[in-house]
Amino acid sequence: SVKGEGRGTVRFFEPAMEAQLQARRQLESELALAVARGEFRLHYQPIVNGRTGEIETFEALIRWQHPVRGLIGPAEFIPLAEQSDLIVGLGQWVIETACADAARWPRPWRVSINVSPSQLRLSDVPAAVAAALERHELDPARMVVEITESVFIQDADAAVVVLNRLRAMGLRLALDDFGTGYSSLSYLQLFKFDKLKIDRTFVRRLGENSDTLTIVRAIVNLAHNLGMHVTAEGVETAGQLAILRALECDQMQGYLFGRPAPEVRIAETDAALMRGPLAAPLVRAAA
Ligand code: C2E
Ligand code: MG
Ligand code: MG
Ligand code: MG
Repeated sequence: SVKGEGRGTVRFFEPAMEAQLQARRQLESELALAVARGEFRLHYQPIVNGRTGEIETFEALIRWQHPVRGLIGPAEFIPLAEQSDLIVGLGQWVIETACADAARWPRPWRVSINVSPSQLRLSDVPAAVAAALERHELDPARMVVEITESVFIQDADAAVVVLNRLRAMGLRLALDDFGTGYSSLSYLQLFKFDKLKIDRTFVRRLGENSDTLTIVRAIVNLAHNLGMHVTAEGVETAGQLAILRALECDQMQGYLFGRPAPEVRIAETDAALMRGPLAAPLVRAAA
């Protein structure tokens, strides 16, 4: 504890913060061992064609099967991994596992992986991807890399070089969580992504807020005019789906079509989806 402070000084450090820091240090040291212990899992969530409802891609979403705490979501440990070089080994494991899994799928769906900006800076992601694709004999055209615009904050030129290398290998690049960061529009001039993923904070308000509808329509039109496809994240209701279809959003992802799951299941794919939400007649969004 801190000594030498005057009487009456408020010491925020104890005991709550101390305990929090301790828990965090513990998680960090366990995180360092978790790859070797085989505690990570990839879950896969379908991304469907907005017109036909066919599954086109599965996004790989990491989970940590912690021996004591159970299944932990990425929001709890990815930021921690990003603060050290732990993200490199973890990211390497994701690349390797996603390729191995996709190579065994019963249909040639694409696999979309999330790559952290720090991972891109600290390691040679294109080389790691190339090696994994070759090892598992996976066509590079079947892999998508999702990255947020924060990749451009530190060294934009270096980021563009890496993204171009991935593109040259035949991969697709997606700009994740579009609309939530800073000066999103200026980054669109730096690199032409194959697709934009509209953040689910916009999708959630569709149908409740007419300004949101205007914003989403503008994003879809902007993307299309720049030659990019658009994926809507977090589609949960038939109402949201109807609006997004009317706006000609190219792909949809969300609990309405499927939650992230440890296995890709053919039963929940195309045929079932066509009978489900997408079978509804196309409703025009209010102008
Ligand atoms: P993201 O890439 O934007 O992934 C979409 C998140 O939205 C996932 O959360 C997914 O489960 C959730 N989601 C999908 N549909 C719905 C819906 O209809 N409603 C709601 N409420 N949520 C939905 P998850 O799996 O917790 O992942 C959170 C974030 O963690 C991801 O956001 C991504 O940024 C990061 N992440 C996940 N896996 C990896 C990974 O392998 N590497 C890295 N670097 N980051 C990862
Ligand atoms: Mg993503
Ligand atoms: Mg996203
Ligand atoms: Mg997100």
